[in-house]
Amino acid sequence: MKLEVERRSLKLTTPLETSYGTLSERELLSVALTGEDGLAGYGEAAPLEPYDGVSVDRVERALERYRPVLADSHELGGAQLIDACRQVEDLPQALAALDLALWDRAGRREGKPVSALLSDDSARHVPVNATLSAFDRAGVAEQAARAVQEGYECLKLKVGMGDDAGRVAAARAGAGPRAQLRLDANGAWEVEEAVRTIEALSPAGLELVEEPTHGLEAVRAVRERVAVRVAIDETAEQAGALAAGVADAVCLKISRCGGIAGLLVAATLVRSTGAEVYLASTLDGPLGIAAALHAAAALASRGPMPHCGLATLGMFEGLDDPLPVREGAIAVPLGPGLGIEPL
Ligand SMILES: [Mg+2]
Repeated sequence: MKLEVERRSLKLTTPLETSYGTLSERELLSVALTGEDGLAGYGEAAPLEPYDGVSVDRVERALERYRPVLADSHELGGAQLIDACRQVEDLPQALAALDLALWDRAGRREGKPVSALLSDDSARHVPVNATLSAFDRAGVAEQAARAVQEGYECLKLKVGMGDDAGRVAAARAGAGPRAQLRLDANGAWEVEEAVRTIEALSPAGLELVEEPTHGLEAVRAVRERVAVRVAIDETAEQAGALAAGVADAVCLKISRCGGIAGLLVAATLVRSTGAEVYLASTLDGPLGIAAALHAAAALASRGPMPHCGLATLGMFEGLDDPLPVREGAIAVPLGPGLGIEPL
């Protein structure tokens, strides 16, 4: 299997403020895997160093180390190929790029969308949340009102960075009573502060609070003391987190799970504990979002799923969004493979 890797850079229309810093540009690695049959599949690596600690350089080096394994892979199937690469270096962000390309190739070969390879009764649309990125109350209220008008049922707001109470109240005021309001603290709080803040914010009506604090024990402690549902995101990476049952929901990401196959295994584990799963992007490019949509579509047919955080392609400047949001949901692409062309 021949591997090609190229760097791609996408600019954010508006820099994104988070508790881990300001993000204005997104670098991705675009990957193509071509078999001896001449058929190519496309994938993408989307490490986000300020968030997951993995640099684009490091993923690029890992992919280089996989190259001889791939070149010498004649009779290996997809899963075996990923395993062989994992033995060289276990870097989920790099393995995800190969996993995506292999699923894309498999779908193109069969003439079927990846979601149809994963499940017989995949959902056709994946409901997604809007992200309220404004930093001031008026801006948040305006974004919330516009999102509801556009058909979003779930709005997400980053907290743990300043005027949380004012922004949450503004979001609810702008959104009206029906929309779900989801908060993400990116682990900004300690246990006591998390409990106090969530209690103070909860009269606004919260769907859930994602990553109120970092670490399994800390999240468990918060969850035991607040009435609002608690989800983990960054903490999901901790050893044993998926089966720990410390949260009501777990946010899974294609990049961190090592691709579609890894994400489905993780989801099965989470659901076996009674918790729900939903998917989110780490500001992935179009292929990463498409992969998450196929996985979410398959998972949605087998259990309840909170809104997914996949409406992020619209944040990039000059990108003709191949997966637009309509009425608060994204249609799962129906073309063969991942169903969209690489950047
Ligand atoms: Mg998060």
